[in-house]
Amino acid sequence: MIHDKLPQIWYGADYNPDQWPEETWAEDMRLMRLAHVNVATLPVFSWALLQPAEDRYEFAWLDRILGLLADNGVYACLATSTAAQPAWLSLRFPDVLPTGWDGLKRRHGGRVNFCPSSPNYRRYSSALAEELALRYQDHPTLVAWHIANEYGNHCYCELCAEGFRQWLKERHGSLDALNEAWNNNFWSHRFYAWQEIEPPMAIGERGNSPMLLDYDRFQNQAILECYLGEYRAIKAITPEVAITTNFMSQFKPLNYAAWAPYLDVVSFDSYPRPDLPMSDVAFNHEQMRGLKDGQPFMLMEQTPSQTNWMPRNPLKRPGVMRLQSYQAVAHGADTVMFFQWRRARGGPEKMHGAIVDHVGHEHTRVFQEVQELGAELESLGDTLLDSRQEARVALLFDWENWWAIDYSSGPSADLNYIGLCKRYYHALWQANIAVDVVRPEAHLEGYDLVLAPMLYMVRPGVADHLKTYVRQGGSLLVSFLSGLVDENDMATLEGYPGELRELLGIWVEEFDPLLKEETRGVVMREPWGRLQGDYRAGVLCDLLHLEGAVARATFGESFYAGRPALTVNEYGQGKALYVAADVEDAMLRDLLLTLCDERDIAPALEVPDGVEVTQRIKEGRGYTFVLNHSGEEQTLRLPKGCRDLLSGQALEGEVRLAAHDVWILEGLPA
Ligand SMILES: [Zn+2]
Repeated sequence: MIHDKLPQIWYGADYNPDQWPEETWAEDMRLMRLAHVNVATLPVFSWALLQPAEDRYEFAWLDRILGLLADNGVYACLATSTAAQPAWLSLRFPDVLPTGWDGLKRRHGGRVNFCPSSPNYRRYSSALAEELALRYQDHPTLVAWHIANEYGNHCYCELCAEGFRQWLKERHGSLDALNEAWNNNFWSHRFYAWQEIEPPMAIGERGNSPMLLDYDRFQNQAILECYLGEYRAIKAITPEVAITTNFMSQFKPLNYAAWAPYLDVVSFDSYPRPDLPMSDVAFNHEQMRGLKDGQPFMLMEQTPSQTNWMPRNPLKRPGVMRLQSYQAVAHGADTVMFFQWRRARGGPEKMHGAIVDHVGHEHTRVFQEVQELGAELESLGDTLLDSRQEARVALLFDWENWWAIDYSSGPSADLNYIGLCKRYYHALWQANIAVDVVRPEAHLEGYDLVLAPMLYMVRPGVADHLKTYVRQGGSLLVSFLSGLVDENDMATLEGYPGELRELLGIWVEEFDPLLKEETRGVVMREPWGRLQGDYRAGVLCDLLHLEGAVARATFGESFYAGRPALTVNEYGQGKALYVAADVEDAMLRDLLLTLCDERDIAPALEVPDGVEVTQRIKEGRGYTFVLNHSGEEQTLRLPKGCRDLLSGQALEGEVRLAAHDVWILEGLPA
């Protein structure tokens, strides 16, 4: 467990003492103690200071600040500083600088501006990580390692081109196999020598989806290798200390599921747009928790007040920072951390919110909210640490499927994989049904219901995995436009949905993408659970034939009026359902709740709309989080024997929960 040395919810922030004169540091320590900060993440962007020249490291200033932290009871999430290399490195070794999608070689500047294939970037970043590990391996403050920061730059340089060719040789074995896998006889694309293959980019190949997919896979691996260089260097010296790098939830350039095995703990940065539904934020948390099979994750960054990089950066309203912090904990975070400790005086992040504002003292609304939350989290001790969620519903999310849908030319620009996953999730979130977001290969035995929205790409093994799950008694719901292609984006010749055809008991002959704003009626043949009457569907309708499945609903209009829109196929001990269109939210809700009703899947507590309920379980005890997102006071009915862990109060019967307020209830069944 990562919390052995500091067994409480970690509370802290990215700390950039090197941006401030040392006279400020003593005041930082006083303010950190006041705010109940127990972990500082540093130094995230200090490579240029730590290594002023190729043959010289400067750790004296870091020694001093770490010493101060130790004296003040603050631990360090020690960062390796490798997300922004010093200018001398870029100038001395031009291979360090990347080439963009536009084919232009980048100049030095910004951050995450390096070529992941660069031997010099890899060598110098790993060397710095090793020096840090050697120097601080026994430091009393060290509780975790934070490698680089928000990885994700794709590069299209000559080094990457050569790396891509090598990677392709390993993946495909021969040019013939590659030409076959990429269907390269289209548009005269056949290759006769490996050297003919260049990275896809704006000034070259842009539309060959199998190639684009393989390039994403290759870049993902190349960037992961940069991380692993540092990881291995550190692990050899401090095998017991947890290592992470901070993710960004649905970040397209990287397949985080492929990274997760190499992180000791998943951490991520949560910066939801203020106008996003809170279920989207919850979805992000589920996704991060799902990356390591439900293991608690770290909330590495959030703003205490506002960001600076959105077009408009409104303040979090009073109470919202606390509410969103508890929402993360409610979904599996064992840390609550911020960017940034002290608002930068200059540079791009001077307008980004911080715990300590430019005015420099504690007499601000934001500091006081942070201070109050710190005291509250401290009072929880280790009660919640390593507690788990026990969801009975899983939603399959697959990065490569996301890439493939977006790279496909047609059938509709309105296909939105992430958006559809979030809408399926939202339907259950609104009812406070716990959902795990997991990769298609995850263990599914413990789930009663598995959702697979738009599983367009079915990678090897996935269809058999789903068949086994259903055969053994599970319920599987698959949506429109699933089972069309293999891992190389090559269409199935078995009739859609390809490998899922037998499982679903249908054959999709055609699909009809609708024009913008166009919809089709979906009519229930007869009421089924909560499903009754008519609904609407948009985006795309599948025209399918029943091959063993039964139609529960049909399309109401167009030349396919009367054709199945919702089917159920009994398969082994379970059943496989297919939704043949992008049905409206009301139908999704009624359908998913009907499936939950069938399995007696219910929320831990019935609450009014706008109130979120989750449960974390530890040693058989349930901790039920009740979060009021509605912006108004809400009245709830609680059974006898509930106690709020935060206030210590016994709560039962009719109780009012203030706007933005939170309870963590003990006493409800786990
Ligand atoms: Zn490159």
